[in-house]
Amino acid sequence: MNVPFVDFREQYHAIKDKVDVGLKKVFEDGSFILGPQEKAFEEDFARYCGTQYAVGVNSGTDALYLAMLALDIGPGDEVIVPTFTFIATALCVSYTGAKPVFVDIEDQTCNIDPARFEAAVTRKTKAVIPVHIYGQPADMKEINAIATKHKIAVVEDACQAHGAMYNGKKTGALGDIACFSFYPTKSLGAFGDGGMVVTGNKSLYEKTLMLRDYGRAGRYDHKIKGHNSRLDTVQAVVLAAKLPLLDQWNKMRNDVAAHYGKLLKGAEGVVTPAIQKDRTHVFQTYAVRVPGRDKISDAMKTKGIVALIHYPVPLHLQEAYADLGHKMGDFPVSERIAKEILSLPMFPHMKKDQVEYVCTTLKELLGSKEKAIR
Ligand SMILES: *Cc1c(COP(=O)(O)O)cnc(C)c1O
Repeated sequence: MNVPFVDFREQYHAIKDKVDVGLKKVFEDGSFILGPQEKAFEEDFARYCGTQYAVGVNSGTDALYLAMLALDIGPGDEVIVPTFTFIATALCVSYTGAKPVFVDIEDQTCNIDPARFEAAVTRKTKAVIPVHIYGQPADMKEINAIATKHKIAVVEDACQAHGAMYNGKKTGALGDIACFSFYPTKSLGAFGDGGMVVTGNKSLYEKTLMLRDYGRAGRYDHKIKGHNSRLDTVQAVVLAAKLPLLDQWNKMRNDVAAHYGKLLKGAEGVVTPAIQKDRTHVFQTYAVRVPGRDKISDAMKTKGIVALIHYPVPLHLQEAYADLGHKMGDFPVSERIAKEILSLPMFPHMKKDQVEYVCTTLKELLGSKEKAIR
């Protein structure tokens, strides 16, 4: 059996009719960038998150970058980020001339460790970027309390966690400003690049609106040196068709995760994801820990299963950040997890027999005997 890492064909079929009609209208009207459908999708998405404002941009990376600029972050400033994340979380800081300050993560959730975040705060710290890694929110109560105490901004990197909840609130509404990606493999994926900045703060909203559109206040009235980073109308039509199905798809991801969890219970050495009591997990990624990870993932490929690694090298050990002078041993939790973590195939319409094949194969490769299920 072949099991791809993701397969979104059934998602496409579920929205095809709506998208066909919507796109035809865009093509007929010729309103390709920031058209009325884009504005409507911003409103839908803000409402979905339970926040007031949303600004459609080019990508998740740009959402993070523009959020940094909206907060006036620049040279001389520091922004605290987990070292175990996708590199865009740190690049957005570097683009502004500020310094990303890496901190280690919690072993259980792979999210930023609030105590280590607080220990890294200096007089230069302007913001923290908790990443809701794999689809489970970071410990936002702790993070917000520390941030308030030190008067620093909280920027959610929600690029993997559309629709996840923390204490009854959705991601996007858990900090001062939040950033989403609509890269095609994300839980809410466009048919190209796209992103969104979400906030409840009116002045951050107004600044982000200008930042994404050449600093414009009027057609040729440029208040600030803005950028060109806008969500196109074609992507907005696709995303608007998908948004009403997101909760259902997240539920289907949870069902796949539960099936994995049941079948992998007792598999020797395998650690399945731990969900904290006060949160929901949307399983953008289903990441387990396995001993001998590299060999296992190669062997799975020969059995037709695509498993990926998110992420094999923490940011402090990336060549791109050699200038910060970190070395192996600086962030031991991240370094250890980077060696053990393995993302198994995960998509809402994944079939039961696909999950079963992945688990049987993984257990065979680990040479583990199934323990009796109680
Ligand atoms: C995908 C992702 C990004 C970047 O989003 P793009 O749309 O690809 O630019 C940033 N942070 C995290 C955690 C991501 O997973």
